[in-house]
Amino acid sequence: MTTRTPHTFVRPLSGRVAVVTGASSGIGEATAEHLAALGARVVVLARRADRLEELVARIEKDGGHATALAVDVTDAAAVRAAAERVASACGGADLLFNNAGVMLPAPVEELATEQWQRQIDLNITGLMNVIGAFTPQLVAAAAERGVADLVNTSSIAAQNIFPNFAVYSATKAYVTHLSRHLRAELGAKNVRVSAIEPGIVGTELQSHVTDEGALAWLEDSKATMEWLTPEDVAQTVGFVASLPARANLQQVTIMPTAQAG
Ligand code: NDP
Repeated sequence: MTTRTPHTFVRPLSGRVAVVTGASSGIGEATAEHLAALGARVVVLARRADRLEELVARIEKDGGHATALAVDVTDAAAVRAAAERVASACGGADLLFNNAGVMLPAPVEELATEQWQRQIDLNITGLMNVIGAFTPQLVAAAAERGVADLVNTSSIAAQNIFPNFAVYSATKAYVTHLSRHLRAELGAKNVRVSAIEPGIVGTELQSHVTDEGALAWLEDSKATMEWLTPEDVAQTVGFVASLPARANLQQVTIMPTAQAG
């Protein structure tokens, strides 16, 4: 009997350079490890340099290649400098997992304007800073190698209505809608654009929540469902990036099996 599994199936991202934002914890951290295991050289971005260095050490111990860049993605100049580092050190990114984000629910009448701003600054402006800095590299890589990927982390909050999550949900609706537009623009240049929309994933995201009602809702949800793990989302991103160049999963919703909406 012959095996039909080619070597490229085992490490389908060999030769690729993946930039992952929000890589110091949760979904970004797990995805960086998974993309490295699939053969990509990964460049990991977040603010906590110590956590990034630990991640790089783990990836390299497992035989992968990784570089840490401590960057606040809300700082456009710092993100541009990081992109220049990626260009000079690795020849440019061909896979961008644009993932850093924060969720701070609160009833709108509480006027938690500082929290509104933090979410807008990171989930929208930070996301755009990263897109602005790395899109030229993705386009150049796609022209040279036939494919590149821009994968943005959105949320089921982009589609569904969750009272008290209005600002967060609106930032994620931005991410999904933006992704669909960018796909139409960049697809013709062989840059695939995808939005990943997870339901509840157990990460540090919940640890930043201060609203008592939202905390109680999250806690109660644990009694009725098993939350997703960051690794579940990491595998999804790996799958999206490993598809043949002609195939673009434009929007992927991944839910805990028992989460209704
Ligand atoms: P985490 O809180 O575990 O991860 C957030 C990451 O973003 C951290 O690595 C953090 O690192 C980084 N980050 C925060 N602020 C900045 C900044 N200014 N500059 C650079 N990096 C920053 O949460 P998740 O892994 O859950 O979140 C990842 C994404 O997934 C987010 O976009 C979130 O909205 C989305 N999501 C999460 C869901 C969930 O249930 N967990 C569900 C749906 C979507 P550092 O603090 O070191 O900078």
